[in-house]
Amino acid sequence: MTPIPLTFTDKLQEFNDCSESHKSAIDEITKEFEINTDKLKKISEHFRNEMNKGLEKHGQTVAMVPSYVTGIPTGKEVGTFLALDLGGTNLRMCQVNLEGDGKVSVRQQKYKVSDSLKNGEARHLFDYLADCVDKFLSEFNISSSAEDKLKLGFTFSFPVDQTAINKGSLIYWTKGYTAPGAVGKDVVFMLQDSLNRKVVPVEVTALVNDTVGTLLAHAYKHSNTLLGVILGTGTNGAYFEKISNIKKLKSFSSNADHMVINIEWGAFDNERKVLPLTMFDNKLDRKSNNPRKQALEKFISGMYLGEIARNVLLNLIDRTLLFDGFSSKDLNNQYYFETEYMSTIEADDTNTLEKTKRILEESLNLPSTTLTDRQIVKRVCQLVGLRAARLSAAALSAVISQCNVPESGCNIGIDGSLFLFYPSFKERIKRALKECLGPNADKIELDLAPDGSGVGAALAAMLSA
Ligand code: ADP
Ligand code: MG
Repeated sequence: MTPIPLTFTDKLQEFNDCSESHKSAIDEITKEFEINTDKLKKISEHFRNEMNKGLEKHGQTVAMVPSYVTGIPTGKEVGTFLALDLGGTNLRMCQVNLEGDGKVSVRQQKYKVSDSLKNGEARHLFDYLADCVDKFLSEFNISSSAEDKLKLGFTFSFPVDQTAINKGSLIYWTKGYTAPGAVGKDVVFMLQDSLNRKVVPVEVTALVNDTVGTLLAHAYKHSNTLLGVILGTGTNGAYFEKISNIKKLKSFSSNADHMVINIEWGAFDNERKVLPLTMFDNKLDRKSNNPRKQALEKFISGMYLGEIARNVLLNLIDRTLLFDGFSSKDLNNQYYFETEYMSTIEADDTNTLEKTKRILEESLNLPSTTLTDRQIVKRVCQLVGLRAARLSAAALSAVISQCNVPESGCNIGIDGSLFLFYPSFKERIKRALKECLGPNADKIELDLAPDGSGVGAALAAMLSA
């Protein structure tokens, strides 16, 4: 089996027979995507500076949103709570039973959010959420009454200006949502209003970002958790910051030492100072529904990786270096080259790249492909995937440096399909972390933290009580 390359200097996909013009085009693209150790460290340093700016003042690019979740879960918390998770590919409703001893049981149901709900009046979207809560309660026979309302933690994974654990207004939509009538509004109020109008006896007591939820849920199970991360449709991170470092938090008094900060790192470097943008990134950005926003997210997350790769492939087609110069109707469609395909292609270790062939010829309907074509496609996926993992590591290493990591090491909880399914994403991150942090990186565990948004929201609902 051919190992999956972990760095740009590892053996990337080789080519059996290709022309000089192929070779030089591929070398040129490879250079554009490469991020060496020095560059990685520079990006990480800038990231750390941006974090500190965000802790000092409101309205910074890296928003460093205070979550108002203070304290670190002990694992001993108990109780039954509801959680509603909006902001991923699916809407998820959960009943979470915190059993103590770091144990939980969860019952959950997923619901679709249609494009018309994502982009129609926000009121309809929130009414739909309330309907899903109602449906969930009846389907699972969960009793809640007007006198004794169940508490719900609302995981809302969009940038929010949070002013209390149960209050926060949407700053802007991301990840394909545009629903008018929500920006600037308190999303807890909107959800509670919809629940009340529909007479669903549930009280929304906590608002958390999925990243905050992931951190809390992971910390419930592993006491040395430092950071919660999302690598899915979008990307973001949350960590425990000393309250005394959160300079912008003026009128907040608490006995606690730490507060969870939702970094909102997707927006890092919207100013374009350090991220190595290629023309393929520029094209993606210009055609996205949020140009010049979420700069880092567009390099890293599942929503965008396939599209970057598609842009590279189209460029090679137009230069008659790929597929004999012909595209297909499918490949010409924005977002049709899915990030999931990249996972399959990177993992394809058949001699003739049969799995890659199937994707290209059956899923994307290209009439025929040569082995060289498929090798080029694989190389392009490697470049885009490697760059994403290394940039994730740049962000992680900045946060790790911001915290005092104990001698014994620490744990990072990561949720999201990209981390779960993309081949060697974790190993690539680890390699890049070692380049940034040296041997200390060996003491950092990267763990999958599934379902964090549900359990985490329940913990927040509990901590808010
Ligand atoms: P969300 O972040 O929306 O809560 P997920 O964590 O499941 O949900 O992430 C969904 C994203 O993960 C999609 O944008 C998709 O591109 C990406 N994805 C799904 N399956 C795979 C896969 N097998 N390999 C790589 N990326 C994937
Ligand atoms: Mg998610």
